[in-house]
Amino acid sequence: MNVADSQRVSSSLESLGYSAAVRPEEASVIVLNTCVVRQSAEDKAYGRLSSLAPLKKANPGLVINLMGCLVGVRPPDKLRQRFPFVDVFSPPSDPGPLLAFLTQDETRLKLAEETATRNAWMDEDLPLPEAEYGKLISAHIPVVLGCSHACSYCIIPYRRGVERSRPAVDIIKEAHSLVRQGVKEITLLGQIVDRYGLDDPSLPGLPGLLRELNTIEGLERIRFLTSHPNYMTDELLEAVAALDKVCPHIEVPIQAGDDEVLANMRRGYTSEQYRRLVEKLRKVIPGVSIATDIIVGFPGETAEQFQHTFDLMADLKMDVAHLARYSPREGTVSARNMVDDVPAEEKMRRFRLLEELQESIAAEIHARYMGQTVPVLFEEKVKNRWRGRTETNKLVFLESDDDLRGRVIPVQITWTGPWSMQSRLPAPKG
Ligand code: SAH
Repeated sequence: MNVADSQRVSSSLESLGYSAAVRPEEASVIVLNTCVVRQSAEDKAYGRLSSLAPLKKANPGLVINLMGCLVGVRPPDKLRQRFPFVDVFSPPSDPGPLLAFLTQDETRLKLAEETATRNAWMDEDLPLPEAEYGKLISAHIPVVLGCSHACSYCIIPYRRGVERSRPAVDIIKEAHSLVRQGVKEITLLGQIVDRYGLDDPSLPGLPGLLRELNTIEGLERIRFLTSHPNYMTDELLEAVAALDKVCPHIEVPIQAGDDEVLANMRRGYTSEQYRRLVEKLRKVIPGVSIATDIIVGFPGETAEQFQHTFDLMADLKMDVAHLARYSPREGTVSARNMVDDVPAEEKMRRFRLLEELQESIAAEIHARYMGQTVPVLFEEKVKNRWRGRTETNKLVFLESDDDLRGRVIPVQITWTGPWSMQSRLPAPKG
């Protein structure tokens, strides 16, 4: 989401005539986009921000824009006091305040003031993400902004605001524009992307949106993330299975494999319901790959409860697990009402156990690709190897002198590991 937000800012700036600087020292405008989902991300944001102070001192004309979840829907006075050298504060997803500042446009300035109540990605005034996306093979389109679910540990709803689905016409227009510029793969984004349209009866749901996008000529692949288990309807699963451009890859976090922990997290499902969903995904979408997220060391998580998560992961053997150690976030229900009582070393131990388990599962799944010929969309050349992905989102490398950028090519897998695969062009037939 932050990558998409940053690209949106880039293209907005390009529309005003700015171009990208190579180093911060050469820039006349610096935008620092920030994440605060865990303390480590927040610390990094403060660190980077502090490192910009000397630049501002050396060059008072430099415009510094602090953007994203560190700011939230309304910039807190605390931030302004602590970082007086910041010229503009912007909420997540919103280039509006920066554009207003740079153009000193009265209407824009006023809009930026009301920023908390408006919807930046619906702003007619902003250009489509042209130039920046023009360099991309794979682009992101936010379709649901904000989140209203309120998982007890999560700060995102407080910082990105309430859930707002973008109009389908805007999304489709944007997709067409991207494809005209050479984009081959589009990933639809939302904190709970499978809730697309549920907040607005005039909109189609995610399956309807996928069906529309599937008709775009020149577009090769469609992905979407992140899904919440409770909104993965049969209609959605069937759409993924039926639509040729929609990839058989689902990102659907479980967060924990223990029912009491899940209830404390306010996730709204049990581990048994999640198991049944995985079964159904595998039945309805042949060859589907599944990615999940896990938080270890949630308040009160006992060794036995963690074991339930471990056993479930060992059992379900999903393709990818994004692992995190619980980090209390200011203002969230868990930070206010629960004690962060799992010691740091124990969180680390649980994290390592899952990491090791997942590495062996991924290696096992990838080994099944050995010798197979699979279509790969190649995106860029790193050193002498082309980097691309299978429909199931596996990273594949190929040595070739040809220009493969943006091409979908069937390649034969010659080596597999837990994180990537290598391939060669299959021998011509006959
Ligand atoms: N809305 C999406 C993404 C949320 S942020 C979703 O629900 O999946 C990405 C991941 O960060 C989450 O899935 C969760 O695993 C992790 N996360 C969120 N808040 C956290 C916290 N306070 N501590 C540790 N990990 C957290």
